[in-house]
Amino acid sequence: MRMSFIFLLLLTIIVLVTLYFVQRATYQHSSIQLFSHMQTSVSVVRDNIEGRASALDNGMTTLAKDFSIKQLIATANDDRQSLKSAMFNYQNRLGADIFWVLADDFSPLVSTSDPLERSNEIVPSFTTPELHWFSFNHRYYLLRATPVRFVENSTQVNAWVVMGIDVEKLFTQNLVELTNMQMTLLSLKSNTLLGATPDTPFVNSLVLPDIEVSSGLHRISLSSTNTIYTTVEFGVWEHSPVYIVASTGEDDAYLSSESLIGQLFIILLSAATLGLLGATLLSREITKPLHQLIKAAHRMRAGEFVETFPSANTLEVESLSSAFDEMQQGIRDREEQIHHLAYYDELTNIPNRIQFSNHIRDILKQQPECQLTVLMLDVDRFKDINDTLGHDLGDELLIAIARRLSSYATESSFCARLGGDEYAVVSHQGAHDSPEEAAEQLIKLFEQPFKIENVVLDVDCSVGIALYPQHAQSLQGLMQCADIAMYSCKDQHNAFAVYTDALNKHSVVRLSLMSELKGALAEGQLELHYQPKLTIHSHKVETLECLIRWFHPEHGFVPPDDFIPLAEQTGSIRHVTQWALRTACQQVKKWQEQDMHFTVAVNISAIDLVDLSLPDSIASLLMEFDLLPSALTMEVTESAVMSDPQNALRALNLLRNMGITLSIDDFGTGYSSMAQLKKMPVDELKIDKAFVLDLATNQDDRVMVKTLVSLAQNLGLTTVAEGVEDLATLEFLTEIGCTKAQGYYMTKALRSDELVTWYQNFTRNGLTS
Ligand code: C2E
Ligand code: CA
Ligand code: CA
Repeated sequence: MRMSFIFLLLLTIIVLVTLYFVQRATYQHSSIQLFSHMQTSVSVVRDNIEGRASALDNGMTTLAKDFSIKQLIATANDDRQSLKSAMFNYQNRLGADIFWVLADDFSPLVSTSDPLERSNEIVPSFTTPELHWFSFNHRYYLLRATPVRFVENSTQVNAWVVMGIDVEKLFTQNLVELTNMQMTLLSLKSNTLLGATPDTPFVNSLVLPDIEVSSGLHRISLSSTNTIYTTVEFGVWEHSPVYIVASTGEDDAYLSSESLIGQLFIILLSAATLGLLGATLLSREITKPLHQLIKAAHRMRAGEFVETFPSANTLEVESLSSAFDEMQQGIRDREEQIHHLAYYDELTNIPNRIQFSNHIRDILKQQPECQLTVLMLDVDRFKDINDTLGHDLGDELLIAIARRLSSYATESSFCARLGGDEYAVVSHQGAHDSPEEAAEQLIKLFEQPFKIENVVLDVDCSVGIALYPQHAQSLQGLMQCADIAMYSCKDQHNAFAVYTDALNKHSVVRLSLMSELKGALAEGQLELHYQPKLTIHSHKVETLECLIRWFHPEHGFVPPDDFIPLAEQTGSIRHVTQWALRTACQQVKKWQEQDMHFTVAVNISAIDLVDLSLPDSIASLLMEFDLLPSALTMEVTESAVMSDPQNALRALNLLRNMGITLSIDDFGTGYSSMAQLKKMPVDELKIDKAFVLDLATNQDDRVMVKTLVSLAQNLGLTTVAEGVEDLATLEFLTEIGCTKAQGYYMTKALRSDELVTWYQNFTRNGLTS
């Protein structure tokens, strides 16, 4: 609206200025035109009147030569009446209105009317060549005089014939029509109006004194209208000049210019109207889409998606509109990104835990009657892979696993990465025949080794299964059950486990155990048991591995696999290690005093290795119990070393330099390379029992163990095979030159007093009993 107003204002100013200049130019032009028109008109009038005068002159000359008239003049004193009627005759013929016949002394002989006075006043008309005007009986006449000579061509004038034409006859409507002007004849002598064309405004006005007789155009105000006039001298009356006033109403004179102004005014009006209309349309063209854009912006703020933005004919609004569109697109893209970040796993690009939870929650809400199978999957020993092969490779493996899982996920199932090396799949029951089959299908995905950057990885997984609604009715409950089941299969070394209430109890117990562990150590709920390592070629037992045993007052025996990993996670493993070292040293010392010289191997965790105080505390223990470093062996898992090789190597070197024997535990399960192994200051390799348990029958394991043994030999290391459960295995180990054997075939880990009994029996009878 404001824009329309400004537009209109500008337009008005422009039109007014134009109007002013046009008007001025037109006025000047019209004035010049008018002036010349008036001059022409006056000359037309002059010609006309002079023509009448000369016509009268000619007629009168003829009259003067008329013999009978001459005779009548000559005899006028006797017969006035005959002359008079003859003159009337002539007057009528010549179109005059008044006549005199004067004697040579200018005394009147006859005239149009009696009495014949004022003849003296007529005289000047003979003496000067100008037009002469004459007033007689309140009327005005143009006078002409001709001499009458009784003798032709004589210089003697005998009489004068004078005739006059009434002014009214000269200033006729005809003249107005001819010139388009009003003509007035006036004398400045007592401001006398001599005559005028009909309807001349001057006639009825009392403005005569104001009439200017100088040349040029003049204007005079007469009642309602202005009159433009010019004056031209035109004969004399009573010795003073007579003027013709040519006049016209200003309105008429400037008619053309005024109509132009009128037209311009109409143009202004229509232009203003058009302009207003245009401005309104234009502003609507701009403001309407702008309003729509504002509305769209509000909707966008409210999070709505605006499908279409107003299109406009104006470039600015159009580009603003498309800028809005782009902005919305940008916002949407970012929202999508945020959504993706929030609901997808960044590494593997499959749904994350949040989306997985939402998915299950939605199903439970929409189909509470359904049956679901939740499978939670954990990659076995992923930490080892990560630690030994590096995080990049670990990441690649996680991506590859995600890819296989996605290929497994069907319409009725949904997979996600929960974090770390944990994945989960939820599927509708019935999509698979049984939860076990579902698990097996999942495990099958791991059958083929993963090939990542030319490294072939044989990866296993543990799958925990929970069923809805049997095991839990809430999302949280289901996840917990699946998690418990998954952990249980790690403990039991199964590939999968379906949740049972027993597992749950177990798991709850496990968690609560952690808070009790420290107290349990102090209270003596834990014991160290000892498992001998048989030196194969000498058939002697010189080394024992100590393994922790927890006899819980409520839960009974708690296997170390149930609490050691948890203790490692919570950090309380340090107390366990300290306690085990002290107890072992104490026991070794005790046995030494009974003349049994064992070297005891203590299991050390990854966390212990990075604890910089460990070598010192071992040294002080040795001092305290007055033991040689050779009394201790430290068993460190391959993965513990690889998780922080720099610190681990530092600690291992310190221990080695102290004279403590170092053993790499669970060897073969990690991913150490030969190069890495060479760098490690170790004395012994413990081949993991996974390769040993089936050694009697499994050809692959035989090859593996044989390779490991010769590898160790090449590196100058001794070898221990753990998990030896039968004679055949022991014989094979003997065959391939393995240094030591440990396992149930000899004995399980025993209480220190039991061990002594076993040992005494062993030294006496060997392994037979
Ligand atoms: P590990 O160090 O590999 O210990 C060997 C495990 O194999 C022991 O299980 C032992 O009882 C078992 N074993 C020995 N011979 C045989 C056999 O012939 N057949 C089979 N099937 N198993 C055999 P255990 O005592 O349950 O210990 C489990 C794990 O707990 C140990 O594995 C070790 O990693 C950890 N652990 C035990 N005691 C301690 C400890 O004092 N400190 C630390 N840090 N970890 C410990
Ligand atoms: Ca061990
Ligand atoms: Ca082991």
